Amino acid sequence: MKVTTYGTAGSLAICNRNRMIHGGNTTCLRIHSNCLQEGTALAVDAGTGYYPMCMDVLREGGISKIVTLFTHYHHDHTQGLLLAPPTYIKSIHMDLIGPVDQNIGPKEVLETLMRPPFHPLDSVEVKSHFGFLKIDHPAGTVMIFHPEGGMKKMDLDEFQRNESKNGLIPVGESKYPIGECLIVKMIKTAHPEHTISYRFEERTTGKVFVFLTDHENTDGISVALHDHIKGADLFIADAQYNTKTYETRTAGYGHGTGAYVTRLGEACIVDPLNTTKIAHIGLTHHDPNADDTFIESILTEAKAARKHTETCIFSCKDMETIEV
Ligand SMILES: [Zn+2]
Ligand SMILES: [Zn+2]
Repeated sequence: MKVTTYGTAGSLAICNRNRMIHGGNTTCLRIHSNCLQEGTALAVDAGTGYYPMCMDVLREGGISKIVTLFTHYHHDHTQGLLLAPPTYIKSIHMDLIGPVDQNIGPKEVLETLMRPPFHPLDSVEVKSHFGFLKIDHPAGTVMIFHPEGGMKKMDLDEFQRNESKNGLIPVGESKYPIGECLIVKMIKTAHPEHTISYRFEERTTGKVFVFLTDHENTDGISVALHDHIKGADLFIADAQYNTKTYETRTAGYGHGTGAYVTRLGEACIVDPLNTTKIAHIGLTHHDPNADDTFIESILTEAKAARKHTETCIFSCKDMETIEV
């Protein structure tokens, strides 16, 4: 599995000559996995980083479907969708998947954002090549991807029954071994709107990637959050603020600090019974007001919070690919 971070800025896209290292596009990732059906690209969020991601998809060629998982619908996670070329290319099927909040799901998001006077075109002009899937109960839902079967949404209960019974899972027209699938699990984050954190389990390799953006520091670590991050090979999380800003001004805004992300990542990833497991932690959702130096200072703070010297912490940058 590989992850490309196309947008690592939070709250607002920013162009700043003192931020040339990290970049200024808002949240968008692409997940590369051999469990995806040929011709399918999988993305998380459609911030302004969605545009360069889609341009890479078009340059690559052979992609007929883009599946986009939304964490939530704040503008910094949706704006790239409006002008990304595949939105207007009918031969590319666009699946939008995400939470439901105040009766707004992915379909309503497209309909709301894409209409005059906010946008020159109405969504009716493009909707024929879009599919929409609502996630009503993130903690009780899994998304399954299989190279032949395609994609399926399933209740967690049913998935676990299949997993413990015979390890076969119905995806598309047939049943397949779970060991051939990419399994996506979810929980809600600590953020003002219903926001989902996604855990990607690539069962062919045993690799796990957890993406936890738009999540605020919590006092303790719940069992649900611990299980969600447990054993991740790569953990990327929201570290928009430094401790001083957070403690004096921005608590309650729904974003975290680097030091908290380190504590959370190490507590969930480093197995006390197996000390060879090393945590790889990426910091993201960089503040619009932060330049490269400031983002590096948050990284320094995150590193200072390490209990294990081997823990690898880095700040995410736009257009970077990370092997999981
Ligand atoms: Zn955000
Ligand atoms: Zn948000």
